[in-house]
Amino acid sequence: MAEYPAEYDIDVVLKDGGVVEIRPIRPDDADEELAFFRRLDPDTVYQRFFRVKSDLTPEEIEYFTNVDYHDRMAFVAVHEDRIVAVGRYDRLESDPEVAEVAFVVEDEHQGRGIGSQLLQHLTNYARSHDVSAFRAFVLADNHGMLRMFRNSGYRLTRELTEGVYSVEFPTEPSDESRAVEQEHEKRAVAASMMPLFYPASVAVIGASRNPRSIGGRLFANLLRGRFTGPVFPVHPQAGVVNSVKAYPSVLDIPDPVDVAFVVVPARLVLQVVDECAEKGVKGLVVISAGFGETGDEGRELEEQLVRKVRSAGMRMVGPNCMGLLNTDAKVSLDGQFGPVFPPAGNVAMSSQSGALGIAILDYARQLEIGISTFVSVGNKADVSGNDLLLYWEEDPNTDVILLYLEDFGNPRRFGRLARRISHRKPIVAVKSGRSSAGARAASSHTGSLASLDVAVDALFGQAGVIRTETLEELFEVTSLLANQPIPDGRRVAVLTNAGGPGILAADALESRGLELPELSDELRARLGEHLAAEASTRNPVDMIASAGPAAYRACLDVLLQSDEVDAVIVIYIPTAPEGSDDIAAAIAGVAAEHAGKKTLLSVYMSSAGAPEVFGAGEARVPTYPFPEPAAYALGAAADYGEWRRMPEGDLVTFDDLRVDEAKAAVASALAEMDGDGGWLEPEEADAVLRAYGLPVVESGVATDEDGAAALAAKIGGPVVVKVIAPSAVHKSDVGGVVLDVRGEQAVRAAYRQVMAAVPDGEGALIQEFVPGGHEVLVGMTEDPNFGPLVVFGLGGIFVELIGDVAFRINPLTDLDAARMIDEVKSAKLLRGYRGEPSGDVEALQEVILRVSAMVEALPQIAEMDLNPVKVLPPGEGVRVVDARIKVRPTEGAWLPSRKDLPAVIRAHR
Ligand code: ADP
Ligand code: MG
Repeated sequence: MAEYPAEYDIDVVLKDGGVVEIRPIRPDDADEELAFFRRLDPDTVYQRFFRVKSDLTPEEIEYFTNVDYHDRMAFVAVHEDRIVAVGRYDRLESDPEVAEVAFVVEDEHQGRGIGSQLLQHLTNYARSHDVSAFRAFVLADNHGMLRMFRNSGYRLTRELTEGVYSVEFPTEPSDESRAVEQEHEKRAVAASMMPLFYPASVAVIGASRNPRSIGGRLFANLLRGRFTGPVFPVHPQAGVVNSVKAYPSVLDIPDPVDVAFVVVPARLVLQVVDECAEKGVKGLVVISAGFGETGDEGRELEEQLVRKVRSAGMRMVGPNCMGLLNTDAKVSLDGQFGPVFPPAGNVAMSSQSGALGIAILDYARQLEIGISTFVSVGNKADVSGNDLLLYWEEDPNTDVILLYLEDFGNPRRFGRLARRISHRKPIVAVKSGRSSAGARAASSHTGSLASLDVAVDALFGQAGVIRTETLEELFEVTSLLANQPIPDGRRVAVLTNAGGPGILAADALESRGLELPELSDELRARLGEHLAAEASTRNPVDMIASAGPAAYRACLDVLLQSDEVDAVIVIYIPTAPEGSDDIAAAIAGVAAEHAGKKTLLSVYMSSAGAPEVFGAGEARVPTYPFPEPAAYALGAAADYGEWRRMPEGDLVTFDDLRVDEAKAAVASALAEMDGDGGWLEPEEADAVLRAYGLPVVESGVATDEDGAAALAAKIGGPVVVKVIAPSAVHKSDVGGVVLDVRGEQAVRAAYRQVMAAVPDGEGALIQEFVPGGHEVLVGMTEDPNFGPLVVFGLGGIFVELIGDVAFRINPLTDLDAARMIDEVKSAKLLRGYRGEPSGDVEALQEVILRVSAMVEALPQIAEMDLNPVKVLPPGEGVRVVDARIKVRPTEGAWLPSRKDLPAVIRAHR
């Protein structure tokens, strides 16, 4: 019997927001399985077994609970330590690629989507165990089961014979089944978060009478924020806290409690959670510290905490957090202990740092950035940043999502979700840890080029997430996105009453990749109508210092209506102490008339700050103290807009891949290596690459002069002789490569020469010589959190000296590959820059995509360097002339299946 596949033990959120554990069945489930069976309704039993059945025999129980996790597999759904559903498959002896599936869900848990979850897990599992199709027999009147299959999105075929449907479908996911999974995930997670954001009543466990303590502040905030439901303080001794009647425990509260804020010492938290579970609390916000952040003991405590929370079907924010708030007037929930309850608005925010969260709220209030919901996620033991993304995706109060991240729980899932959500709502993130990005020590180019930061940038870039370097920039961008439409393009008009700032703005805009187009004569004439003769109607439009409210109003109106620009920056320097409020009012007035049509930013250059009228009312014009931050914000918004308009591309499949051959080559190489794996021999690497249709040049290994001569003769034409030696990582650096070798004598001489260049030569690679072409690097390296990264750059100095490379997180779409090439500046050479011969970019793109497919299918590959790939002229293709591939066993390797489980809160262990 195969080992218990513990990694398939996970918690899932159901569509009603409840939580169950789904895990492979175990032999010690026997008693529970029997109890489960006995709780079933006779009708349910009949539908499962097609006959009346009063009990399970010991043999049956033994059979059901002992599976081999390969030919026979079963998952159970567990709720409050009881089995509430089972789904299983049995491989057919007659056709081992097909398995028969069956499900049974306890009556009171039917309709919650547990069956669909089991089906999903079984199909995922079956797929990785070579089961390509499922078959199920369903009684014609078992409508629930038939609906479950129909709604799964799998491509079903059904046949009805004598009142029994035989349903069959491939386990391969279809677009529909993926969509079903994602829709489920979205709804389930969002539903489970609702009670946290919209509780009808809350308790503060550890509400303190000391107004300076955390418990005291939190309690006071809830009252001061005018939470619309009752707030119950829980205090062990005090009968009253802050004039409110207090209770010794949550169980003593006579009314229901939806959310409990827990502010007690860590060692008391577990008991409190037990009481909350008993009370029927739906959500917990654990402020208490002393968990995972403190070390092993704390981590253990945190695991116990999560287990309790999950088994009671609750959701939890924290521990070790500052709380959450929801400004929606329906609840007006100020459930955090900082001093600021921000104004309501359309920006949602989560912060991984509590203290920073306080500062952020303060700053947001100052900048008049309205907040919809704010969550300090703390240790993210249960509710993760990804869960919040799913909630905000559908939250009608949220238009912009801000994230302060220190790490990613599950970057793959983040990438998938963010990519989808970014198409509707901008996500702006500050990811700390820029400076720790130093290159990692590694023995190959690709490995040392990659740093964690590169992975984060790649992830954000692919997902359309706007990354800012600093908190200041986070707010600069946010005040634009929260108030103005995303620009449709990069053309900007600048309207100013002073020349200097106009020029500064123009420079800043251009350095951010924005354009200041020449305005048409017609447009200039219309502007001129409202301006003094000395004014300039070129872009920047300099109205000169005498411009008053009327000129501002008229010119701004003209520019906002023009289709020659996508955005307008209006600059005002107060030249006289009086009158500036009038100008601000004039700008705000025009802005309000055109609100939502064209992106408008203002720069109000005065140390006194901008008049309030700017951000007020309909106008919602973001104001900046200098042109540079305005240009920065607009640049980020324009990039984002561009990303949003760009098609995503498709994951490409090739039908000539010999996957089994590649797998076999890797497996046999691994079998010969010691436990940790290592670099493939040249022939092994070639075999793997060939199986994936990568154009490796003809070559062979010679271990003596005669062999070298014979190989060269066989290859024909000029050859390359390369030493094979453990010490020669970079063969050419030690004189181990001789190019363009012609004739037997020369081959023999070259062989002797390269062998003499190293102390440990094992032989030489004799290879076809490929003249001409551009040299590029295509590689792969693995990030412990993000999984495989694919890298591309131009070989030699461009990569090593300038670091001109592009990274993408695997898998890549066809457009990802194309953009990767475009993103590398030196790759312009491939397009025939300044008389350079151009290269076969199309063939190069295909190489990148084949590498992507290979890396996705072979998780044993830890690192790879195709350096160089020679890119020949268009139509002549590309050739891989040097390949290094590092493999290691998959145990402990990064596995996509584990990292991207749908609808999962978190893998159990
Ligand atoms: P290393 O990277 O270990 O130094 P390579 O095999 O990449 O060794 O060879 C070094 C350089 O020699 C390559 O970057 C390329 O310029 C050239 N070269 C290697 N193999 C060939 C070949 N088959 N045809 C043409 N040039 C080659
Ligand atoms: Mg090389």
